[in-house]
Amino acid sequence: MTQLESALQAKVDHSIGLLKEALETYGEVTFANSLGAEDVVITDLICRHVPGIEIFSLDTGRLPEETLQLLAKIEQRYDTKVKVYYPDATQLEAYVHQNGINAFYQSVELRKGCCHVRKVEPLKRALADKKAWVTGIRREQAVTRGTIEFSEWDEGNQLQKLNPLADWSEKEVWAYIKACELPYNALHDQHYPSIGCAPCTRSIAMGEDVRAGRWWWENPELKECGLHPASSLNKPS
Ligand code: SF4
Repeated sequence: MTQLESALQAKVDHSIGLLKEALETYGEVTFANSLGAEDVVITDLICRHVPGIEIFSLDTGRLPEETLQLLAKIEQRYDTKVKVYYPDATQLEAYVHQNGINAFYQSVELRKGCCHVRKVEPLKRALADKKAWVTGIRREQAVTRGTIEFSEWDEGNQLQKLNPLADWSEKEVWAYIKACELPYNALHDQHYPSIGCAPCTRSIAMGEDVRAGRWWWENPELKECGLHPASSLNKPS
């Protein structure tokens, strides 16, 4: 690995310190690996420095092929298995039978319903026996994320939430990825800075907000999927 600039190295050390402290404090800690650029950084920090933290991913059934390819590369690079959670088949069939295969385009309510079945409910199972979870969200990612803390109580899921990259910039994330030659989602090279499900993610133009390609037909204030609800993200510090 090439030498990191001292400011970035300080942030790396801080993030590792947070992860180690979380494991010591809470014992049962899991990382929700969304397979975005931030997530490959945290995966690297955990696998190399804090391997006692479990790593899981949610496969919604609508992920781009490139995302699944990245999952396989991570498992190979770190000689590990990421725990993958899937939507409950009965709930998903009922939702699709009632609303249609692409109902998420029809209304915010139906979109959130799809996110609930495909993401929120599996997340609850993934977090069920844990004391803390780790995410890759950063303050500058969206208007809904500007006030997140490094460590905060997650009222919705009733456990501690760690955001070790909260103060990292996008440039710093990519500087780390390049310096460590980490695998990353091939869609990032096609102007997809933020990647979710295939039908709900598009590429963005120069100068657009990094999350402009997520649920692009919706108002920015509504653009959370239920994993990081805006009400909990905007708590006063
Ligand atoms: S991002 Fe789109 S396809 Fe994925 S769970 Fe949410 S609404 Fe459904």
